[in-house]
Amino acid sequence: MNIINYFQKPYKSWIPRNLNKKVVQIDSIEIDLASHCNLNCKGCTHFSPIAEKWFIDVEDFRKDVQRTSELLPDGCVKRFYILGGEPLLHKRISEMLVIAREAYRKTPIYIITNGFLLEQMDDKFWNVCNQYNIVIEITKYPVNYDYAKIKKIMQDQKGKVKIIYKGRTKFLKKKQYKLPLDETGNQDEVYGFTHCHMAGNCINLAHGHLYTCSYAACMDRFNKYFHKNIPVTEADGVDIYQDYSTEEVIRKLTQPIPLCKYCAVKERTYGNKWENSKRDISEWT
Ligand code: SF4
Ligand code: SF4
Repeated sequence: MNIINYFQKPYKSWIPRNLNKKVVQIDSIEIDLASHCNLNCKGCTHFSPIAEKWFIDVEDFRKDVQRTSELLPDGCVKRFYILGGEPLLHKRISEMLVIAREAYRKTPIYIITNGFLLEQMDDKFWNVCNQYNIVIEITKYPVNYDYAKIKKIMQDQKGKVKIIYKGRTKFLKKKQYKLPLDETGNQDEVYGFTHCHMAGNCINLAHGHLYTCSYAACMDRFNKYFHKNIPVTEADGVDIYQDYSTEEVIRKLTQPIPLCKYCAVKERTYGNKWENSKRDISEWT
């Protein structure tokens, strides 16, 4: 993942995934605290610009994260990401950080945020981040926001809470990529999966299931807004309340899913100029 900057390189630069290689540790688990966002990025891979306003229920979060940690315990997951939408919009984020840390005592936990709301966060939030070793990872966007505020927060939290910028977004203008869907479902699912940067790398926890990518986890948002019916079935995810071994879960999450037939991976473009979403279907098709 570090070798190739996927904001800038075309899909052909990806070394195709070897489906026969045994995976013992997955890169990350992601969970949305909110579907919507205070930014509006064209082609957002969580469909936040077109999502209805929604916040995760804290008890659902607790139940699903605890169960996930039984299936994929510490050591099987490199990182646990709390994101959205914009996760800082959730008023009870501090409680969920504690829950996440109790479930994953050793796995690094990150909040993935655009950082705009950090200046409004209360002492409880900062104390929890400090006490429970939560890292805040900020993606810097080319928008009209005074990033000197973030610098000040970083200085204030120095030695207490680790706050970092995501990848090279601190220095380089954030780019966008376009990951178009193909409503006909006529794509080659094995080709798509093995050439997809999300496949198996962005495991999403949603609806009591684990999914190999955010498209499978969030497709309901696209379908609802555009009145489409791109199918996400039981075969596209792992029901975390079924009786699976860790090995079975990892294997299922690192193999092509039926939804891959709806991803036009060869048509993907990377390194595009960052723009606001106009909520037009062409941003995702
Ligand atoms: S900041 Fe992230 S979640 Fe929000 S719209 Fe942009 S890409 Fe989507
Ligand atoms: S459905 Fe398949 S090809 Fe599309 S984003 Fe998910 S893993 Fe990648």
